Amino acid sequence: MEQATSHPVENAATHRIVVKTFPVGPLQCNCSIIGDTLTGKALLVDPGGDAERILQQLAELGLKVVAIIHTHAHLDHILAAGEIKKVTGAPIYLHEGDIFLWEGVEEQCRRFGFPSIKLPQPDHFFTDDQDLGCCGGVALHTPGHTPGSTSFWFEECKTLVAGDTLFKGSIGRTDLWGGDFEEIVRSIRERLYTLDDDAEVITGHGPNTRIWLEKESNMFVRA
Ligand SMILES: [Zn+2]
Ligand SMILES: [Zn+2]
Repeated sequence: MEQATSHPVENAATHRIVVKTFPVGPLQCNCSIIGDTLTGKALLVDPGGDAERILQQLAELGLKVVAIIHTHAHLDHILAAGEIKKVTGAPIYLHEGDIFLWEGVEEQCRRFGFPSIKLPQPDHFFTDDQDLGCCGGVALHTPGHTPGSTSFWFEECKTLVAGDTLFKGSIGRTDLWGGDFEEIVRSIRERLYTLDDDAEVITGHGPNTRIWLEKESNMFVRA
């Protein structure tokens, strides 16, 4: 008897990779699950709150988190990291440039009027261009919004997770701790606008965009 194949046989990676984005937490940060349906492994980006909902999404997709990765350490992107780590056992990744924000999470909570939380220390710091070990993802250091801001590039499915560095028609604010306007402009021009024009950009808050669209129409950074 013929064996049925449970996965699409076309070898295009896009058929294997699942990208699911949904807003979480008090400031509706976009949390993303990027998973490989063949291996069952996934990266979890920016668990900014609503741990239960994140875990439910993972269960529905049938994926196991192998790394909890952060675009930066503003509180609205990290609030549920500890809870997710406790349940999944996955290691936490952050760029070292944002460790002062991570360790200062209680101070951030006070500043923004949120109940105070404690977080475990990150398990690993990203290096620039680091292979994320899942879905062909690579970490790009894109400082400016914060010193350790990092974007995640998935060549195989032409998807960029830009955090608060690039928004649809806008860019991240640089007036908070360690922000630097010239640096964010340089990061966007040199690291993001050099990616595929057609790439889908998942932003830190609000709708997705495309690289070509921002190059043509972003009022803050033109190509
Ligand atoms: Zn931010
Ligand atoms: Zn944010």
